[in-house]
Parts: sequence; structure tokens; C-alpha cells
Amino acid sequence: MTSRIDADRREQATEAVHAGREDLAALGLHAPPLDLSTTYPSYDSRGEAARIDEFARTGARLEGPPVYARLDNPTNARFEAALARLEGADDAVAFASGMAALTAVLLARASLGLRHVVAVRPLYGCSDHLLAAGLLGTEVTWTDVAGIAEAIRPDTGLVMVETPANPTLAEVSVRAVAHACGSVPLLVDNTFATPVLQRPLEDGARMVLHSATKYLGGHGDVMGGVVACDDGFARTLRQVRFATGGVLHPMAGYLLLRGLSTLPVRVRAASATAAELARRLADDPRTARVHYPKIGGAMVSFEVHGDPHEVVSGVRLITPAVSLGSVDTLIQHPASISHRIVDEGDRHAAGVHDRLLRMSVGLEDVEDLWRDLDRALGPVARAPLSARPARTADATVRERERAAP
Ligand code: PLP
Repeated sequence: MTSRIDADRREQATEAVHAGREDLAALGLHAPPLDLSTTYPSYDSRGEAARIDEFARTGARLEGPPVYARLDNPTNARFEAALARLEGADDAVAFASGMAALTAVLLARASLGLRHVVAVRPLYGCSDHLLAAGLLGTEVTWTDVAGIAEAIRPDTGLVMVETPANPTLAEVSVRAVAHACGSVPLLVDNTFATPVLQRPLEDGARMVLHSATKYLGGHGDVMGGVVACDDGFARTLRQVRFATGGVLHPMAGYLLLRGLSTLPVRVRAASATAAELARRLADDPRTARVHYPKIGGAMVSFEVHGDPHEVVSGVRLITPAVSLGSVDTLIQHPASISHRIVDEGDRHAAGVHDRLLRMSVGLEDVEDLWRDLDRALGPVARAPLSARPARTADATVRERERAAP
């Protein structure tokens, strides 16, 4: 693509609305085109064969016209280019979902005989399950950050962390983890932070994964996944994607590119509301513990003294639903839904307790959200006496623990 603007000088908010669109003016377009073709005409079979051979050998993006939608798609390529710029990566490879993206990373490493993964809990429930069940022939060692270097073996292909993690919002230092990894590539699931709050590649991660279904799409109407990484990994991931077929639908790629254009604005606005709700919840005697990441973000998790299911069924404005990252606020009970698939003992050990609720804060007015939460939490009298300390104006809540009932 030819750039009319010096791409190196653009700030993130500018990248969000311009990256992946640099050639539009030359094409005489303003909105990006949506290309739904599954195949493309070619009257030169020999030339086409050479290009397919080249792709099979190198995994490099095809020069010239596309061949087949499982190999490449111009609309998705725009989304990939834009996300790569936002994450500060050479390239990005898009998939049908976040789980398809993780699958491709694991298969890419396993194809080199590197089947062992070192991972830090908690992870999103299905990511945990995919690793723990060994469905793709992977073997996992669970550890904390301090144990990473020791857990690495000669056949370790990957170290994986989520930060902030789903659903406890526990954070790790990407720089410290990357240091402990040595030459083993570190994959950071950046779904919760987004590149607006954190760019793990700058701190030594080799791959960044997103469930694009969440903040990148941002409106709860598109499913996708993406990995941002260096050119070498991207080539391998493209080959795996071609072989296994977990491709993103171009309509999804179109919506994801559109979602990226408002990502910085959405994330900052929702984060401000989430920080305020976290402060109020931490100051409320009906909560036992509140988790809110130091780096900010639009997710708040909290443990209640009462029945978490009553809170979920008590909201009216907030939607009780799995998933996150939409323009509207969602709440769910991880032990029942997003992390149900994780063994109960492992879940508890990772801090995913039975009274924990996870809330994805959207773009509504903070006072409307608070009124809804306040009602759903029920009467203050329900909180145990021991959990009613004098109110504090402590604003920077991370985990404000009170005596459990
Ligand atoms: N990573 C995180 C942190 C998630 O929360 C999710 C889904 O909730 C995934 C990965 C999987 O993404 P998807 O549902 O798009 O497959």
C-alpha cells in the first residue's frame, strides 16, 4: 500500500482511524471495501501454481491478486495491518475466533516438536482447558512467575500469560516474564488491556493474542481472533491457518477494522467509568474484595458477601451475559460460566472463588450503572457486621479485603 502520510510519525489514536486504509484515496474510496469473494479468476495456471508453491514454502503474503479466501483476503488483510500497527508488530494474522488463534499458535510450535507449554494461571477458561486437556498434543506445566525459568525444558515451545488475567484481573510484569523466558517465545493474551493500555511486544513478548470478539470489535456483534508478531511467526501462522482452515470471515474483518477506529476512545471512556465503579464497590460493605488492574481498563471483578447469583439476576440495565468488551455493560459469574470448564480445585487455587463476579464496563453513564449495581447488590443490612468498616476515600483500589463472612 502506498502511504500518503508518514506512517512513522502517527500517534495511536491516528493509527486507529488510518492504519489499513492508506491506499483508499488512491482507489477513489473513503470506506474500506468489503471483499466477500471465496475465489479469484486466474488465466495463468502456471503462474498461479508458482505463487501457491511459494506460499506453501514460505508462508509469505501473496504478492498480486488473491487466490482463495482460506489463503488470504484483502478486507481481513486491512484489519491485520491495522492491528499490527497498533501493537507495534511486524505483522498480524487473523483467525475465526480467539480460540482458533491460540490453536494455531500451539500447532505452529508443536509442528517443530515443541509441544511443552509453560503457563501462568488464571487464563480464560477455554484457554486453560485447551492446554490442560492436551487436545492438541500439548503438555503444560502450570507455574507462577517465579517458577517460569525452572519450568522451561528443551522441548518448551511457548510461555503463555494473560495480563490482566480473566477473571481475577491479576497482573504480571511482561518485562519480568519475558526475562525469565530466555529464548523461549512469550505469548501474552492482551485481550483485556488492548494495545491502548499495554503493548507487550515492547516489553519483550514475542506474540500478542487477542480475542478480537471483545474490545477490538467492541460492539458484541463479531467473532474473531488475531495474533500480532514478527514476520517469521506470522508466516508460520499463515501456513497453519491455510492448512487447518480457522479463517476469519471477511464481514468480521470489515467490522473489526471499523471497531479498531474507535478502540482508543472506547477503552479510555469505559476505563474511567470502571475505575469509578471499582472505587465505589471497594468502599461498599456488601463486597468482600474488589479487583481492578493497576494499568486500568474496563473490567472490574468483585467478590460479594451475599449470593452472587442474586446479583446477576438483580441487574436491570446491565446485561447478565458471558463475554466482554462491548459498548454496554455485562456481568457474569465466572465459576458458573466462563471458567466452569476449569477443574474446581485449580479454579480456586487461581483465585477464581465462588463468590466472584466479573463485570465488563461499557459506555453508559456511571451513575446509571451504579444505581443498577446498588439495587442488585441488595440491602446493606445483608452484609455481615464485621464487613462494615468506616468508609474510606482510598481511591486506588486493587484488592481491598474485608473479613470474609
Ligand atoms: N482470551 C481471553 C482473555 C478471553 O476472554 C477469551 C474469550 O472470552 C478468549 C481468549 C477466547 O476468545 P474467543 O471467544 O473469541 O474464541
